[in-house]
Amino acid sequence: MLNHLSPVIEIILSLTGILVIGSIFAIISNNTIDRIAKNQPITTPSPYCHACAATLSWKDMIPIVSYLIAKGKCPYCGANIPRRNILIEISEILWVGLFIMKFGWNYPALLEMLFGMCLIAIIVIEYERRVLSESLLLFLLMLSAIYILAFNYTEFPRAITSMIIGSAVLLIYNLLKITTLKTKRIEFREIKFGAVLGLFFGLPLIYLCILLSWLIGAIWGSINIKYFGQKPKYALPDYPFILAISALIMIMFGEDILGHYYRWIM
Ligand SMILES: [Zn+2]
Repeated sequence: MLNHLSPVIEIILSLTGILVIGSIFAIISNNTIDRIAKNQPITTPSPYCHACAATLSWKDMIPIVSYLIAKGKCPYCGANIPRRNILIEISEILWVGLFIMKFGWNYPALLEMLFGMCLIAIIVIEYERRVLSESLLLFLLMLSAIYILAFNYTEFPRAITSMIIGSAVLLIYNLLKITTLKTKRIEFREIKFGAVLGLFFGLPLIYLCILLSWLIGAIWGSINIKYFGQKPKYALPDYPFILAISALIMIMFGEDILGHYYRWIM
């Protein structure tokens, strides 16, 4: 698309695009995370301070810049803005930047980027509140269906198989928790999350995503037990959080890892 432009203009346009899209992602993410945590609708009322309920203007919402100008406080009541807000702003802009540097500007990449943005929101909500958001899951399901049907529709039957594999793994994990940790019930949202990832990644990437999440989970659990005095039951940590991290890595490097693997076994 940008082939006829001089390299300097191309870089300026790309950087502007990254900042604009990253900022929009960051504003939507912070807004959505707060509302999901409070069970509020996502679009109304317009963005507001969660301490004094003052409606925020566009000047108060410029990612990173507004936070630094107001020194991390609400400009209306002076309450501290959670540090998580600026961390999300930085990570969303970084995510978009890395993504565009690696994959360039194209429609499938934009959908994958959006999927990644939701995964970052899932990671944060899981970490803060231990809830896997139903509305985010539904949105991810919709994105995955569009992604497969618009760009990979011949893969659709394999994607359905992959969806079943993803949910089956999470079902087994839940049964494992019930038998070994005596947890009370099966978390159906986790199983839905596995299904959505299965649909999005397809075969064989979903296997890689699950394998990687087990590896991260094992390291995470061991570190927490050994150095932070967690109980041994932490060996089976809360999974959606780790699965989402693994999925983010897969979006960025999954195809590279598979490529290396195929070259290695040939
Ligand atoms: Zn306020």
